[in-house]
Amino acid sequence: MTTNSYTFQTKLLHNDHKFDKSTGAVSVPIQQASTFHQLDFDQPGKYDYSRSGNPTREALEETIADLEGGVRGFAFASGMAAIATSFMLLSQNDHVLISEDVYGGTYRMIHDVLCRFGISHTFVDMTDLNKVANGIQSNTKVIYIETPSNPLLKVTDIQAVVKLAKANQCLTFVDNTFMTPALQRPLDFGADIVLHSATKFIAGHSDVVAGLAAVKNEKLGENLAFLQNSFGSILSAHDSWLVLRGLKTLHCRLEQSSRSAFRLAHALLKEPLVEEVYYPGFSFHQGHSTHLYQAAGPGAVLSFRLPDENAVRLFTKNVQLPVYAVSLGAVESILSYPARMSHASMSAAERNKRGITDGLLRLSVGLENAEDLLQDFKQGFAAITNLYAPKAGGAKG
Ligand code: PLP
Repeated sequence: MTTNSYTFQTKLLHNDHKFDKSTGAVSVPIQQASTFHQLDFDQPGKYDYSRSGNPTREALEETIADLEGGVRGFAFASGMAAIATSFMLLSQNDHVLISEDVYGGTYRMIHDVLCRFGISHTFVDMTDLNKVANGIQSNTKVIYIETPSNPLLKVTDIQAVVKLAKANQCLTFVDNTFMTPALQRPLDFGADIVLHSATKFIAGHSDVVAGLAAVKNEKLGENLAFLQNSFGSILSAHDSWLVLRGLKTLHCRLEQSSRSAFRLAHALLKEPLVEEVYYPGFSFHQGHSTHLYQAAGPGAVLSFRLPDENAVRLFTKNVQLPVYAVSLGAVESILSYPARMSHASMSAAERNKRGITDGLLRLSVGLENAEDLLQDFKQGFAAITNLYAPKAGGAKG
């Protein structure tokens, strides 16, 4: 089926996996098999063992490749498995240049694991292209971007970084978890590997942990397939099916959540005890124009800063609607505390250096009515208002 002419929204439903070719079932069958009977060992079938290939996982892999504008996709047991397996493309003595406020698990992988294998790294503020150019070494093999970044929503110019990477024979990896291909397609800007924690918006229902990767280059695809099979951190057939099901509603979930996030971000700006709001949808956000150029919308994640840990404790105890949890991108709103959750693996000094202070909260807006969320947040702010005198003036954003 040719799906190229369809919009993204339609493609999510009408694609090569719209129905099962052998039965007509309007749902990809879950092939819950570890191994596949071979009729003839001289002519092995397409599938032999599910680590190497499984039809349900393959349906998801083809779907993400198509949605990201790539030629090959990969499904892994988690976002970290996708990221870690991609880093296995590197060898001893290689160097990685990486955004300084990446997801804490990626920081841990680079900082505490890869260095044991002789792979060095430099964290840079990717919003500053001079710093990126100056950080590239003769042995730099990968430039790793997260845009918008986690949790401060900093925006990196994908195309400009790719240009620097190509001029220096480096690959560019982009973690596209916050945007999904519904809003941003890094391969279109020349990135080599696009990565996802599909646990988040792509699956969208807080019921599966999964990772995805997509590439535009066949040879790179072969190398990643080899590593996926060698490393073995594949997504199960059942979880692949859950991600495929979640994908069908990605467009409308993200549209609705993004609309509410816009409302909430602007309301938070007016709260006297909120010191900063980080949201790429603000016209005064430092990366707003770059973001608008490379993405179709600001997404549904924002962060805001309260005075301190005590304020965070009281605020989170007094709001009822968002779940207070690790994760984002679900049907329910999720409030996270980066200092103790996503970025707990970073030392306090490293966190503070990056602006991930003890007062910072990250909000992933779900599908609740925005007015209900606003009312709920009012209760949270009311609980802390008496404790703190509002700070005078000060630009937010
Ligand atoms: N990338 C980003 C931006 C994330 O937020 C996360 C998890 O929170 C990951 C990667 C890791 O994904 P997973 O938890 O599915 O391993």
